[in-house]
Amino acid sequence: MIETSIDSIPNIFQDLRASFNAGKTKSLAWRKKQLEQLFKMCDEQKEVFASAAYADFHRPTAETLLFDCGVIRNECIHVLNHIDEWARDESRSDSLAYATMDKYIHPEPFGICLIIGAWNYPFLLTLSPLVGAIAAGNCVVLKPSELAPNSAAITATMVERYLDTSCIRVVLGAVDQTQTLLKGDINHIFYTGSTSVGKLIMKAAAEKMVPVILECGGKSPVYIADDANIAVTAKRIAWGKTINCGQTCVAPDYILCSKRTETRLIPEIVKAWQSFYTDNPSNSDSYCHIVNDRHFERVKRLIDSTKVVYGGQTDAKQNFIEPTIMTNVNGNDKVMQEEIFGPILPIVTVNNENEAIEFINARPKPLALYVFTSNKNLAKTIINSTSSGSTCVNDVIFQIAPPCLPFGGVGESGIGNYHGKNSFDAFSHTRSVAYSPTWAERLIAKRNPPYTQKKTASLEALTKGHRNWLPIPRLGFWFWAFAALATAIATRVIVRGIKANKWDF
Ligand code: NAD
Repeated sequence: MIETSIDSIPNIFQDLRASFNAGKTKSLAWRKKQLEQLFKMCDEQKEVFASAAYADFHRPTAETLLFDCGVIRNECIHVLNHIDEWARDESRSDSLAYATMDKYIHPEPFGICLIIGAWNYPFLLTLSPLVGAIAAGNCVVLKPSELAPNSAAITATMVERYLDTSCIRVVLGAVDQTQTLLKGDINHIFYTGSTSVGKLIMKAAAEKMVPVILECGGKSPVYIADDANIAVTAKRIAWGKTINCGQTCVAPDYILCSKRTETRLIPEIVKAWQSFYTDNPSNSDSYCHIVNDRHFERVKRLIDSTKVVYGGQTDAKQNFIEPTIMTNVNGNDKVMQEEIFGPILPIVTVNNENEAIEFINARPKPLALYVFTSNKNLAKTIINSTSSGSTCVNDVIFQIAPPCLPFGGVGESGIGNYHGKNSFDAFSHTRSVAYSPTWAERLIAKRNPPYTQKKTASLEALTKGHRNWLPIPRLGFWFWAFAALATAIATRVIVRGIKANKWDF
């Protein structure tokens, strides 16, 4: 793989810092132009991207077109439609005590953002955060994963061709390059990958007091209640488990269900897989393979042949692993000790939802949790009794698609989130601004020493706070000013009227 030389990295930072300091990326026109170019790149070069991912891990063309290029294009359009509104200062108001001040939030870019991507969705995981970083007005260094070298190289070529390289650069390489970047002149880190490397990234960020977003992984469970629509459930889980060969961070990792449901479910999942990939998935161009020999060996080791009820075939020559179902699995099995990240579906039987909740809560908080049921209350009970980055009821993976929903983990599955407005916020510092008018000096003079009991008591009364049992205090200074003026005029009119004997009360 072509690598960026370590020696050239300081110059990259120097160039980016010069562009940022010149204010280039703060211009809304610049941001919009780059987002339009990014859209164009994902549209015009989608087949080139798809070929690179196919060369890397036999990734089906449709999966790159839909889940990478399509999603990035959609994200660009969504952001372009809203960027004027998001980038605007946002006025804020609260209690009467601070009513004289003009207060607002000014979103400002961090500066230079480092985006470290993973290999499994090689374009999405670098270019989708890039959308947010550009929208927020940052300079960016992208570090695609070395495990998908063709995809990484084509990302570098296309970024150079379509985007402004005085502000956006790609660094190719592995751990050495990443560690050099982490020591560089960065103001923010956005990382996607395993939890263990995520912890290293966080340590490096702590050294520099740089904020991080960590998009990590983990085992995402699926609970299937006895009342679920089994035919639909099976088809959706079969799809989610095998797109990208199970190498999806929010793929359903394992199933929790009753023995009765398991018996009905297995033939339906097998039927769905056969309809997707035929009886011989190793010949199917719709079926992805495992990314490299190391991961192939790792996933293969998770298969316990005594527990396989479907599949289990592997072929080391092409890093192929057949869609596989394992039953009689318990929490101590090897397949339950780590995120599978491959096409193996273990089923752990439980007697009811309470046992499922207990099983889930005994493990690290997952990136996603799935529930299949026709009972909305049961779904709510499970959501309220557990914690996960996101949840989808009666489907898998789809909850991360709409840009209106934030995507991210909780606990070991990650820190922070992005997508849509959340991407803009992820790459923005929310700077508070307050203008204190000089004409209000008399109103705030009581804060000045020497402190007296009277001054302190009157200020305390103002700052004591109150429950918002009436919405009135939220109306702010101008409401109160208008109310006071109206009352003064009304009183004067009434008093004059009484004096002139105009009104008989
Ligand atoms: P990976 O091996 O591609 O690593 C990710 C990035 O970290 C790469 O750019 C790599 O160069 C860098 N890296 C690796 N070791 C490093 C080190 N010691 N120091 C500094 N940088 C280092 O990806 P992976 O970790 O195999 O990805 C799979 C994991 O990522 C799974 O756990 C999956 O669930 C998770 N993931 C999460 C998301 C999400 O959005 N939450 C998306 C995709 C993958």
